Amino acid sequence: MAAELIDGKKLAAETRAQIAAAVAALKAEKGVTPGLAVILVGDNPASVSYVTAKEKACVAAGMNSREIRLGADVAESDLLAEIARLNADPAIHGILVQLPLPKGFDEKKVIDAIAPEKDVDGFTPVNVGKMLIGEECFLPCTPHGIIKLIEVTGMKLAGKHAVVIGRSNIVGKPVAALLSRKSVNATVTLCHTGTPDVGAFTRQADVVVVAAGRPNTLTGDMLKPGAVVIDVGVNRVPDATNPKGYRLCGDADFASCSIVASAITPVPGGVGPMTITMLLWNTLEAARRAAK
Ligand code: NAP
Repeated sequence: MAAELIDGKKLAAETRAQIAAAVAALKAEKGVTPGLAVILVGDNPASVSYVTAKEKACVAAGMNSREIRLGADVAESDLLAEIARLNADPAIHGILVQLPLPKGFDEKKVIDAIAPEKDVDGFTPVNVGKMLIGEECFLPCTPHGIIKLIEVTGMKLAGKHAVVIGRSNIVGKPVAALLSRKSVNATVTLCHTGTPDVGAFTRQADVVVVAAGRPNTLTGDMLKPGAVVIDVGVNRVPDATNPKGYRLCGDADFASCSIVASAITPVPGGVGPMTITMLLWNTLEAARRAAK
C-alpha cells in the first residue's frame, strides 16, 4: 500500500493560523507586535528566496518584519555592529542572520553576537546548550518542525526506534537530541558517513529522519515496512523537461520508499513549510517573554 503523504503545507497553514491568532491577542492585551529582523549578506539567490519567504510569512502572521540587506563586501565589524543595534532595539524580538554567509565571514562569531533571548533560529551556543540539558530555550526551527510532522502522523514516539541520517549542527544533531528527550522518549541512532552500513540501522527503525543533502541516501530496501520517513533534503537535480532545467528532490528515493513506508514527507511541501512556521513560533514566544 502506498504511504500516506505527511502534508507539511497543511500543518504549517494550521499552525500559522494559531500563531496569527496569538499575535493578535498579544497586540490587544499587551500592545506588543512581534518584530523579526532578517539580515541578508550578499545576494545568493537561494538565500534571497528564503529571506523573502520568511518575511512574507511574518507579515501574514501579523508580525513586523525588518529586512537588513548588506553587500557581500560589508566589513564583519559593521555586521556585528548591526546585530548589536538590533539586540538593543525593543521593537525587535527575533534576529535571524541568513546562512550561509559569503566567504570570509566568521559564521560562528556572527551567530554568537546575537542575544540569546532574540536568537529565534536557536543557533547560539546558549540555546543549543539549554536544549541539550532540557531548559527553556528556542528550539531550532527545522528539528522542531520535524517533531511536529512526526506527531501529526499519530505515531507515539515513546519507546520507538528513530534513526537520524546526518549529524549537522542545524538538523541531524538537534533532531537526535529532541527525539531522545525524556518527554519524547524515542531510542535514537545517529548515522553519518562513518557508518559502514546505514541500512542495517534504518531497517530496524520505526522512524527515519534523513538529512544528508544527497539524493537517494535512503531507498525502500533500507526501510522496515510501515516506517515513517521524514525527508529533510532539498536537492536540485538536472531535469530537461522542467523549464528551470532542474527539479527539487529530497534525500529519500520517494518512489521506492513510499511503497514500504506508512507515511512520508514530500519534497517540496514537507519539512520546508514547517521550518518557517517554527521561526514564527519562536518569534511570537520571544515577544511574549519580552512583554512579561
Ligand atoms: P550538511 O551540513 O551537509 O550535513 C549532512 C550530513 O549528512 C553530514 O553529517 C554527513 O555526514 C551526512 N551524510 C551525507 N551523506 C551521507 C550518507 N550517504 N550516509 C550517511 N550520512 C551522510 O547538511 P544539513 O545542513 O544538515 O542539510 C541536509 C539537507 O537538508 C540538505 O539537503 C539541506 O538543503 C536540507 N535542509 C532543509 C531544510 C528545510 O527547511 N527544508 C533545512 C535545513 C536543511 P558527515 O558528518 O560524516 O560528513
